Amino acid sequence: MALVKCPECKKEISDSADSCPHCGYKLKNTKKESSSNFNFTKDDSNVLLIVAVICLFAVPFVGVILLIVALSQKKKAKKAKERSDMEKILIKNAKIDALASIDPTNTEKAKEQIDIINKLDNLD
Ligand SMILES: [Zn+2]
Repeated sequence: MALVKCPECKKEISDSADSCPHCGYKLKNTKKESSSNFNFTKDDSNVLLIVAVICLFAVPFVGVILLIVALSQKKKAKKAKERSDMEKILIKNAKIDALASIDPTNTEKAKEQIDIINKLDNLD
């Protein structure tokens, strides 16, 4: 048998007593319910608080990381596209130059030029 403080009048009373002998405060039911409820809500609110804190910090953090990754990938893709576009233009220009330099009167030279154009086509 242990002594506990009455939640109502704060006087020391037996924890086995059904009600406080000083103020008549009902102990058994209210004590059990209130203590278990309090513990549950405390744990629950702690978990909620932790989750809320994680969300508050993690969501923008992950969002920023995803944004950075997405932007860098977009940049890379754009650069790669620009590079390949540039290469295509260079190849196209080389083809135009090769075609323009074909001498129809010189078949041997023309064949060489066509070979070069075919090689450029293979690069494309
Ligand atoms: Zn009391």
